[in-house]
Amino acid sequence: MKPYSPYGLHRVLDAVEALPQQAERLDPSPPPVGGEALIELDRLNLDAASFHQIREEQGGDPDRMRTRVLEVVRSRGKMHNPVTGSGGMLIGSVAQVGERRRDLAAGDRIATLVSLTLTPLSIEDLSGWDGASEQVPARGHAILFETSPFARLPGDLPDRLCLAVLDVAGAPAQVRRLAPDRDRTLVIGAGGKSGLLAMAAAHGRSRHVAGIVHHDRDIPALRDLGFDEVVVADARDPVGTLAAAESAIGTDGAGVADLVVNCVNVPGTEGASILLCREGGTAYFFSMATSFTAVALIAEGLGKDVGLMIGSGYVPGHADLALGMLREDPALRRVFQQRYAS
Ligand code: NAP
Repeated sequence: MKPYSPYGLHRVLDAVEALPQQAERLDPSPPPVGGEALIELDRLNLDAASFHQIREEQGGDPDRMRTRVLEVVRSRGKMHNPVTGSGGMLIGSVAQVGERRRDLAAGDRIATLVSLTLTPLSIEDLSGWDGASEQVPARGHAILFETSPFARLPGDLPDRLCLAVLDVAGAPAQVRRLAPDRDRTLVIGAGGKSGLLAMAAAHGRSRHVAGIVHHDRDIPALRDLGFDEVVVADARDPVGTLAAAESAIGTDGAGVADLVVNCVNVPGTEGASILLCREGGTAYFFSMATSFTAVALIAEGLGKDVGLMIGSGYVPGHADLALGMLREDPALRRVFQQRYAS
């Protein structure tokens, strides 16, 4: 192995010295060295864009989905979906730490707050995964680098609930920073995990909070959480989505919201996000299915001066904030509990 690096460069197997995220292949072999920790896996949470892509590609067949995930992990030493470019995160127990690691010890239960696209990973068994959800029970191990953020799993919330929330904790944390003093925050994909948290984070901070959902079935949960402006539309159809939002919300044709938050798990929704955004507003792309080239070129092509933000999953304090939202809002916790932890 190459000389130890806190960023994990010593685990990069490519000829070119890439950072682990951009590397084609990582070496996940134990033991942990330096400031690393070896994590015994409990569950992976595949990123929603990656899960959706693998499910579509493999026709929803659980055997084929398991085989595909194992293929990716075995060939790359990490769960870095070559089509979507996205990963996910994991929960597990610390099995061993490197000689320089002081803040973790064997037996600690943690969630990694760093993408699976840069986490050295080895999977022995995926047979417990039925392919129906992005939460993947798995046997194997991962390496946490010295510089990689993590969160300790709290004792008062079920692990599966924590996994669901921590996967998308960056979205509500970022929306809390962006939503104050806006007339309207509009969330596309409002019925999903990050969408629900983004709506809740904007509540009481923007004057109005609106959501675009893909199907009627997502309306009741949002209404129960106190949101009246909920529009059903397919965000891959930009003009149709704008028309549906304008007619439901009753705006004047100059865009619908001054903050648009994209939380969908499919490609092709960049145009709707920009059309829905008012001149001078901000469009925040949390979705990993976003083409940032398309975003920039569509905004330019429409002659629209909107702030374009890439959704990094990391915001200081995001894990505590997202878990705190569930503790403080029983209705939100109920929705997450029913969907992701029962
Ligand atoms: P999720 O729970 O699967 O939610 C996605 C939502 O988008 C679903 O409610 C889905 O509705 C909706 N949707 C799908 N197609 C749509 C369309 N054409 N029009 C309108 N809505 C549509 O996903 P998530 O876990 O919240 O993740 C959302 C996105 O964030 C994903 O792209 C994921 O990769 C990304 N992500 C980013 C980071 C980061 O660090 N930036 C971290 C984690 C996740 P239906 O299910 O009814 O189709």
